[in-house]
Amino acid sequence: MTDAEKVARCVDCRAEFTEAETKDQSACPTCGSKGTPSDPRKDVQITINPHELRILTIWAGFHADNQEGTMKLEMQKTVTAICSALKKQDALKGVGLSFADDVQEVADTLGTKAKIVRGDGEVVKEFEGKKPS
Ligand SMILES: [Zn+2]
Repeated sequence: MTDAEKVARCVDCRAEFTEAETKDQSACPTCGSKGTPSDPRKDVQITINPHELRILTIWAGFHADNQEGTMKLEMQKTVTAICSALKKQDALKGVGLSFADDVQEVADTLGTKAKIVRGDGEVVKEFEGKKPS
């Protein structure tokens, strides 16, 4: 390991740090996240079908959405950050990895508005579909 080698990646803001940069830190120096960082040296390449990955990420999003308070916000931020990082990979470009991505795709396909509404009637998110070309 060199002194410049990154040994920690924030699961929320994706910033990477060396051993010296993380010494005596109890949270991410960039965003303050207290989530356990990943080790970028342990990144792996795996084979998975995008549909299978969507199942995992959408279910993770649902689980986060069903938490309360700070835990809910922290889990949503982490799931969103990981999905955003995944979508930057060439094999996953254009693949929706969240329920919101699915609803946006439907709104775009139909060229209409859509919204996600909780069981209690609260509007969680609204979407403006792009006109089909
Ligand atoms: Zn961070």
